[in-house]
Amino acid sequence: MKHSILILGGTAEARKLAERLSGDPSYQVELSLAGRTLVPAEHAVPLRVGGFGGADGLAEYLRESGIAMLVDATHPYAAQISANAAAASRLSGVPLLALRRAPWQRQESDRWRQVASVVVAVSALGETPRRVFLTLGRQELLPFEAAPQHDYLIRSVDPVEPPLSVPHAAYLTDRGPFEEAQEAALLSGHGIEVIVAKNSGGPASYGKIAAARALGIDVVLIQRPELPDVDAVGSVDEMVERLAHALPPL
Ligand code: NAP
Repeated sequence: MKHSILILGGTAEARKLAERLSGDPSYQVELSLAGRTLVPAEHAVPLRVGGFGGADGLAEYLRESGIAMLVDATHPYAAQISANAAAASRLSGVPLLALRRAPWQRQESDRWRQVASVVVAVSALGETPRRVFLTLGRQELLPFEAAPQHDYLIRSVDPVEPPLSVPHAAYLTDRGPFEEAQEAALLSGHGIEVIVAKNSGGPASYGKIAAARALGIDVVLIQRPELPDVDAVGSVDEMVERLAHALPPL
């Protein structure tokens, strides 16, 4: 007999957690992805891909699959799926544990401006043309079409199709983690003056923040969305410990 665990993923932590749990004979682990990227990263456990059909659909999936523990290891800006996980846990009675990365904290020479949304980030860039580095998803990029005066460098996992309707934009496809030295070379090489980013937390995308600090580059940081107040831990190690405690060997 094994405990079935469903991990809601799409993050480096979810991948690491799956790898850690995959070697434990007490667990049967499945990892769920939304299906946003064309070729998902390699995972150590079976994957299921695509939405569940809201909180009700997720609750039904939990019940039908005999899941003993739901783990929300999604990105801190994926607020809808986290809300659905909390609601589905209530509806199904399946316990939920969340893995929540702490946000990055401002350091002394950071040139951060924190804004409430992508739309506010666009106006924060100002009227004067600037060279801007964007690492946001396709839907989040569209508001930048309202500021065609800037020169954009856009990095994404999959190509941005169709490209933005702005006269000056260059595109890069790449998947993190990104080291500070690599990010500093990219920022300097493109003469970047300002970065628009999410406060994702964790090390994988911190390289650009550290590089911006060292180079004196402005960072417009989009604030985190509200997430449900659920039982949460801050690291993969803590999650492994909590699971061992909550799901002792059968
Ligand atoms: P979202 O707005 O919170 O979720 C939208 C819908 O996508 C959900 O209602 C759910 O559909 C489906 N979904 C999301 N995550 C899922 C998962 N892990 N497994 C199955 N279905 C999922 O999510 P998002 O911001 O578009 O992010 C999508 C995925 O990308 C997440 O898994 C997240 O971890 C990852 N990601 C997001 C960001 C970001 O900045 N938002 C960055 C890096 C990675 P149904 O309601 O039909 O179940």
